[in-house]
Amino acid sequence: MEYAMLTDVGRSRGHNEDACAADEMAGLFVVCDGMGGAAGGEVASHMAARVFLEKARIERDTRPARWRLERAAIEANSEVFLESHRDMSLRGMGTTLVGLEIGRDLQEAWVVNVGDSRCYRLRQAVLEQLTNDHSFVDEQVRAGLMTEDEASVSHLRNIITRAVGSHGEVQPDVMRCELMQGDLFLLCSDGLIRELDDEAIARVLNEGGHSELQVCADALVDLANERGGCDNITVVLVRV
Ligand code: CA
Repeated sequence: MEYAMLTDVGRSRGHNEDACAADEMAGLFVVCDGMGGAAGGEVASHMAARVFLEKARIERDTRPARWRLERAAIEANSEVFLESHRDMSLRGMGTTLVGLEIGRDLQEAWVVNVGDSRCYRLRQAVLEQLTNDHSFVDEQVRAGLMTEDEASVSHLRNIITRAVGSHGEVQPDVMRCELMQGDLFLLCSDGLIRELDDEAIARVLNEGGHSELQVCADALVDLANERGGCDNITVVLVRV
């Protein structure tokens, strides 16, 4: 297994409120995209990423991955929520969280998601989005009330329907997938998706995916910046 990660402020924001982190030994990776005034977004994303990694690896040999990843996201939620009530300047902060665990035997992987950061998998040159966005427009699309084209330009596309730390409780999605040798996973914040559609992401991964992963991560971020860089951009790439 190899991985690379990169987070970038983009070209129009003053701060980077995204966070990414990895625990290679435990096969755990996470991307968080924070929100909230003043320093809140940055605090929320870094806290959630840290707590998620810490909690997910506890009892790795005795508890199933689905249970541990759900617990880790729930505990990240609790810590961010409590901190936002301890410090008035952080009130209202929250963050997305998308996490990946690669099983030790390289037979299966698990993905946990809250919010609109995404996990994709490139397998045999085909890119597939594994997570559903917890966003207003994505729910409208899934309900057949809006087309994907309408959603991509909607002024409501910033509204997320689930976040870590915004409320006392959270409901993470957890999914399992079987691994094939050569699978390439991408975790990313919406700053990438705003600038690059799935086709463009697949092209970069297919062109650069066989070279060093860090080169590929840099290429994704560079292209998103070339196309506007209107938001913070974060990518984590994991190849098995
Ligand atoms: Ca963002």
